[in-house]
Amino acid sequence: MSNDFKDLTLKQASEMLARKEVSASELAQSAINRVKEVDSKLHAFLYLAEDRAAADAKLADDAIAQGEATVLTGIPYALKDNLLAKGLQATAASKILENYIAAYDATVVKKLSQSLPVLIGKTNLDEFAMGSSTENSAFGPTKNPYDLERVAGGSSGGSAAAVASGEVLFALGSDTGGSIRQPASFCGIVGLKPTYGRVSRYGAIALGSSLDQIGVFAKTVEDASFAFQSMAGQDAHDATTLPVPVPDYSSMLSEDIKGMKIGVPKEYFIDGMDPEAEEIVRDAIRKFESMGAHMEEMSLPHAKYSLACYYIILPVEISANLSRYDGIRYGLSVPGKNLEEVYYNSRSAGLGAEPKRRIMIGTYASSAGYFDAYYKKAKQAQALIRKDFTDAFQKYDILLTPTCPTPAFKLGEKVADPLSMYLADVFTVGLNIAGVPGISVPAGVTASGLPVGLQIVAGHFAESKLFHAGFAFEKAMNLNLRPKM
Ligand code: GLN
Repeated sequence: MSNDFKDLTLKQASEMLARKEVSASELAQSAINRVKEVDSKLHAFLYLAEDRAAADAKLADDAIAQGEATVLTGIPYALKDNLLAKGLQATAASKILENYIAAYDATVVKKLSQSLPVLIGKTNLDEFAMGSSTENSAFGPTKNPYDLERVAGGSSGGSAAAVASGEVLFALGSDTGGSIRQPASFCGIVGLKPTYGRVSRYGAIALGSSLDQIGVFAKTVEDASFAFQSMAGQDAHDATTLPVPVPDYSSMLSEDIKGMKIGVPKEYFIDGMDPEAEEIVRDAIRKFESMGAHMEEMSLPHAKYSLACYYIILPVEISANLSRYDGIRYGLSVPGKNLEEVYYNSRSAGLGAEPKRRIMIGTYASSAGYFDAYYKKAKQAQALIRKDFTDAFQKYDILLTPTCPTPAFKLGEKVADPLSMYLADVFTVGLNIAGVPGISVPAGVTASGLPVGLQIVAGHFAESKLFHAGFAFEKAMNLNLRPKM
């Protein structure tokens, strides 16, 4: 085991803290030093929270001294900058919220705080989490730690790059259509999108409220399960969270998957998929078979409508959710002769091209005369897609698919073509449409050294199956990917 901070897993750091080989304050300093060493190249962070980190570390060290530590105590982590932490900025990578300071902690932050991890800073994202490359950030893109000419993925590219490069030991992101799983795949780490209703969205800056979930990035499946354990559960502040008991996820981490029933949906292997990425994913699926799982090709017949359905439902929700940024209530305000001009000037100056594009699409698709043809149709398609998944989980424990059609693409490659950017999410959006959980686990690297992820899908509230299958696969592969930086 390497004792170099950048290579540590959460679990290893936790054991070092327990053995008093390192203090939480020293670990926090190692994280900050690593950020200072590499982040001028990566731009994973929008800003550090050094005072908060020092205060958190002190609390953690006190708890360790009192013998009250849990596995997360003293562990350095980061938050995507669309999640609120009291007293810190929360920009959502938009000019319109550039000077906004959060007035309260998101429920996930509050829940995590009970275990005393150490918040290091806030990470970069596509503006309001709209995008697949972090190039839509108003503050410049995040680079991929495996190749600085490539994107880290998005929208949670900052959180993914921060974990992959060893700046922090876990990070939170949000996933509305793939924004945790896709950057996890591009950066060679684990990324979990929970069931819709498993984790509170209170204190997350809303993108598409019926699709958004907050989830976690970590180097290993086990590390992800530790962080997730402290985030999940019903919350009085989010009426869409459900009173489903939260199991002890770490007790599900077994390497034995004999007899597990696995479906491989044929719609997830499409023309135009990168052949090398496809081969890596097919090998991964064969690995499950060799471990004793029952494999079967099957069909999710409405999967092909997922992306079209998503790009109607999501923009409609965006056009409603972003109407609050009016130059009066929050953030940037640009003066005008009357109220309408204040709205116009503030939103023109404060919002980037992608939010504007989606507000227009969403307003159009939900307006009188078009509502039936677009939004209503999309909601009907959503019911069919959801049924495909619930039917599948009558028969299978999990499904296996590629996370993305390609490895990380080059910076600038897709910015001028929104449609090709939207295609990056073709395998991930269906899960958000259906509300089911998914995890991306590293499956291999291409000849040029780019990571490729495998997506594991389970039924509603069956995250434990994701952890079980992901853990067994990870142990069998023993990849332990680390970028050379
Ligand atoms: N890339 C997708 C989009 O642009 C997903 C975004 C997300 O999950 N936040 O909508």
